[in-house]
Amino acid sequence: MWWLLFIPLVVLLVVGANEWWYWQNYRRLPTYDQYRARHPAACPAGQCRCVHCGSRRLRLHSLRPDMRRHLCGNCGALLYRS
Ligand SMILES: [Zn+2]
Repeated sequence: MWWLLFIPLVVLLVVGANEWWYWQNYRRLPTYDQYRARHPAACPAGQCRCVHCGSRRLRLHSLRPDMRRHLCGNCGALLYRS
């Protein structure tokens, strides 16, 4: 029965790996200011559009309340984080 002690360890490992994966994906995206600086033509009057297809329809995807990603509602490209 001693092997039952490994179950919480495995759960912690899986949860930790999941969190790490989310964090890496989130961190790779530019911030809103970085996106505006990189693509000034895509953000003419404060409202940004997708650099890939030009759509103004952006969607918000919350990984956590403090980790949000902004995606293109047309082509699905990940654009920036906030
Ligand atoms: Zn797009």
